[in-house]
Amino acid sequence: THFGFSEVPLDEKQTLVNDVFHKVARRYDVMNDLMSGGLHRAWKNALVSSLRPPRNRPFAHLDVAGGTGDVAFRVLDAGGDQTRVTVLDINGDMLEVGKDRAGTRYGDRITFVAGNAEALPFGDREFDAYTVVFGIRNVPRIDKALAEAYRVLKRGGRLLCLEFSHVDVPGADAIYRAYSFNVIPAVGRMVTGDAEPYRYLVESIRRFPTPQAFSTMLEDAGFRSVSYRPMTLGVVALHSAWKL
Ligand code: SAM
Repeated sequence: THFGFSEVPLDEKQTLVNDVFHKVARRYDVMNDLMSGGLHRAWKNALVSSLRPPRNRPFAHLDVAGGTGDVAFRVLDAGGDQTRVTVLDINGDMLEVGKDRAGTRYGDRITFVAGNAEALPFGDREFDAYTVVFGIRNVPRIDKALAEAYRVLKRGGRLLCLEFSHVDVPGADAIYRAYSFNVIPAVGRMVTGDAEPYRYLVESIRRFPTPQAFSTMLEDAGFRSVSYRPMTLGVVALHSAWKL
């Protein structure tokens, strides 16, 4: 059965999301590679190229919904020894996988924090940059999360968000729809024994605002110089916004 997602109260929506990532935490990284054909790596690398963390001055970075640390590691590898990354996620299981993956490689340049994107446990203007990658669509109240992103950024700070988008190339859209509705849940069942979390995933992609609508939400939260770049025929969009 499908989650009747639009009728689910917001707090229950978060509970559903938490169940999904609790179930898949240990296999999350394998699933990511399988389902995107490895493309998620290229998308994340494009985000980090766009961010260009400085190599020779302090840089405080916050990666929200950071899960198993994939984005954080890339930011740390691209930055210098004064680059510090805080990985925040609502799900302790995902963070545990991230801690295991990090090992002692980055020392105290990486910190894992359990918390909610809608109520960040940080002071105002603490961070130079904020990223959220394939995470914002899971947050029940996106406007709250964007207000929090704005609050914790310094003036001149930047938000980058990578999220699934809407394929609008004729022909490709039908293939993508068939792929996401059939292949993704099937692969999910093969690897984790359960297709349901992946039906939820596909459904949440379908419901996420268009890049234009999401850009408006960023502006409403106070961000300026808002722009986005579609990638891979619009399968994903990279959004950029500044706190000026
Ligand atoms: N950013 C990682 C990546 O791209 O590999 C993980 C993305 S994963 C699809 C989505 C993550 O969002 C999960 O780890 C989940 O626990 C987290 N999440 C869901 N709701 C959240 C919330 N309200 N606050 C913080 N994190 C949340």
